Amino acid sequence: MLIYELAKNNMNDMKYHKGGNKVDKILMKVPLVEMDGDEMTRILWQMIKEELLLPFIDLKTEYYDLGLEHRNETDDRVTAAAAAATMEYGVAVKCATITPNAARMKEYNLKEMWKSPNGTIRSMLDGTVFRTPIRVKGIDPMVKCWKAPITLARHAYGDVYKNTEFKVPGAGKAELVFTAADGSQIRETIHDFDGPGILQGIHNTAKSISSFAKACFTYAADTGQDLWFATKDTISKKYDHEFKDIFQELYEKEYQEEFKAKGITYFYTLIDDAVARVMRDKGGFIWACKNYDGDVMSDMVSSAFGSLAMMTSVLVSPAGVYEYEAAHGTVQRHYYQHLEGKETSTNSVATIFAWTGALRKRGGLDGIEALVRFADQMEAAVISTIESGKMTKDLALITSLEDVSVLNSRDFIQAVRETFEAKYEQG
Ligand code: NAP
Ligand code: MG
Repeated sequence: MLIYELAKNNMNDMKYHKGGNKVDKILMKVPLVEMDGDEMTRILWQMIKEELLLPFIDLKTEYYDLGLEHRNETDDRVTAAAAAATMEYGVAVKCATITPNAARMKEYNLKEMWKSPNGTIRSMLDGTVFRTPIRVKGIDPMVKCWKAPITLARHAYGDVYKNTEFKVPGAGKAELVFTAADGSQIRETIHDFDGPGILQGIHNTAKSISSFAKACFTYAADTGQDLWFATKDTISKKYDHEFKDIFQELYEKEYQEEFKAKGITYFYTLIDDAVARVMRDKGGFIWACKNYDGDVMSDMVSSAFGSLAMMTSVLVSPAGVYEYEAAHGTVQRHYYQHLEGKETSTNSVATIFAWTGALRKRGGLDGIEALVRFADQMEAAVISTIESGKMTKDLALITSLEDVSVLNSRDFIQAVRETFEAKYEQG
């Protein structure tokens, strides 16, 4: 069952006094690793904590400021420290952060063009990114048959993202050479060029593919959803075929029984077949994609479901470490409006769900049922606020609901709080 449906069923399990702070707050045992970020999402981050979390939870976090200024001050050591803390504590929640480019170098007077924090964290945690649309009534998928969310699982290492490539200047022979540690070589001709062309070398490692496979099977089993995986193994008989084989072997060795017991399936097909089937399916499964396929398909799936601001994103490492975030960026355009003193209507749903995802996981790991229920109920409150017609501008533009009120950034968060308190207030 989907998380938000579960949440709705649990509606009446727990009550809070109006104002929240009059009841005992939910106590936490182990801190969440909290990674603060940049621009508009940093503003939302603070509002979410003030309005939706601190009144109800005795929030324990280990705070890391990944805002670009602080990354620059610490020579980006803060990012590595936050990733290390995530490995230690097991659960993190991350605000969107700026990935510096030339314009940001100037804007923030940076010492260096620091790497993408997500890239740094991903490479330390060795994870797979799972992205799931948040469904609400009135924001309908463009693909009519999609009745349940499709979760994209993207392998985040190698292939074309770690390539070596150059332009071939003219006629000549291109070879693929591997020199083993003992000096022996494997050599194959790629192409005999009779004129200019292009050349590219890509790689992946058995270790990374296995981690990816493991993360996908574990996530499917945890969430009770079928897992689809696709490559182009008919054409790439070694490279893509290796992905297929590693998935299949791991499935048979470690997951088959569990999948059977849970009534879920693992399904492998060709990437072009998968794309065609996805368009005709009702959804409700996990679609594991190689790095490039995942990059392209996740943008397609998320926009067809409605909006990047209605998309959860979690990085799951093979060691069982979880990092929750929003799928969108720092919403720079809105931030500049905010700085000019103008009102913004920025959607905080994905950032709220990053927090609730992390709190639910923490509650589950530490056996704090109240924290799990809080996460379910807060998500249900978000959804019911939108379904009652109160939403930010991005959603108002695409909703099929009538009688919509467009709220500004803070008013939306406050409306969620009101829904939450009205629903769970002690009678
Ligand atoms: P973005 O922040 O995702 O925003 C692009 C546009 O999408 C916005 O201007 C806005 O459209 C719409 N949008 C995105 N999120 C929204 C929300 N929550 N509510 C309402 N509208 C939303 O991408 P960007 O402006 O290209 O990137 C800004 C910065 O984010 C960059 O420095 C980039 O490096 C960083 N980034 C970080 C992450 C991450 O940390 N995970 C991911 C991607 C990008 P309108 O302007 O039309 O309203
Ligand atoms: Mg992309």
